[in-house]
Amino acid sequence: MTEVVKVDPENPDAILLKKAAEIIKKGGLVAFPTETVYGLGADAYNEKACEKIFKAKGRPQDNPLIVHISSSKMLKNVVRDIPEVARNFIEKLWPGPLTLIMERSEKISDVVTAGLNTVAVRTPSHPIAKMLIELSGVPIAAPSANISGRPSPTSFDHVREEMMGRVDMIIDGGETPFGLESTIIDVTKEPPVLLRPGPLTVEQISSIHKVLVHETAKGLYSQARPLSPGMKYRHYAPSKKLILVEDLSKILEIVSRFSDPVILCPKEHAENYKENRVLTLGSLENEYSIAHELFKKLREADKIEGDVIIVEGLPEKGILFSVMNRLRKAASEVIR
Ligand code: AMP
Ligand code: MG
Repeated sequence: MTEVVKVDPENPDAILLKKAAEIIKKGGLVAFPTETVYGLGADAYNEKACEKIFKAKGRPQDNPLIVHISSSKMLKNVVRDIPEVARNFIEKLWPGPLTLIMERSEKISDVVTAGLNTVAVRTPSHPIAKMLIELSGVPIAAPSANISGRPSPTSFDHVREEMMGRVDMIIDGGETPFGLESTIIDVTKEPPVLLRPGPLTVEQISSIHKVLVHETAKGLYSQARPLSPGMKYRHYAPSKKLILVEDLSKILEIVSRFSDPVILCPKEHAENYKENRVLTLGSLENEYSIAHELFKKLREADKIEGDVIIVEGLPEKGILFSVMNRLRKAASEVIR
């Protein structure tokens, strides 16, 4: 049985969240909102509880989890040591949508790290996530709260659709602010390596410390050995075929090949597809609105009628670089 509790994301009720924290402490699973996407959480020190996460999601066991913490004391307990460069990122960007890869402590099990000697750690800024970790008193291991391979959940409805009956509790905290998973940086390397672009942009990260942007961060298929196990899986994929058209001069011709395509594009371009079903994806004037709506619109495009989803490519700067990473991973075909 899955219990659902509605919690105000700006001013969470500690009494409601205490119930959720009790479930975590007893080894259960709780889905909760963060500033990135919804997470599916368990006590990071409880191996059995963490195994349940993989089962509920159908997640491959070699894809490690992110450990969510709320204090520097917790950080010291989950990592072996904190590199100087990590201190710099932490001071400037935590709490926030930044995950750091560091050497793990012996308290973190192979289940969480998928056998790696490193662990992914982040301090979320979302008031519900923060309070839930504090009340639980333990770090919470949590990947995105979707069935493996599906788009990440950015609203309570998305989590309900996939996790009802699979977890002990779902916290309804409305829509997640960024709507895109965290930026991941491996700080065990010098220079540090950006493994996954996210809400914090390459430009923002680089202004703090020089980072190497790993080839796979673009989201294009790469022969390179994946540095992060999660990189090798196709992600975020709707059930319909998804064609990402990066060369916009070809898009009208591609659209004309299908009898009933669903077009996804920024609202400024909707006019170009008058004859077709169009779902707008935020505005080019507010790049964060595009990130915020991405997964929601991918799910919507999947549900409505239509034989294919055709998505306009976006300029690869700022947060749109991260959006393009997700779109390329979701695409069955990329036209460049
Ligand atoms: P999710 O929370 O669903 O976004 O998945 C977590 C992501 O973090 C996956 O892409 C993992 O591969 C990545 N990750 C977790 N732990 C590590 C680690 N120790 N080294 C590299 N990547 C990691
Ligand atoms: Mg995920």
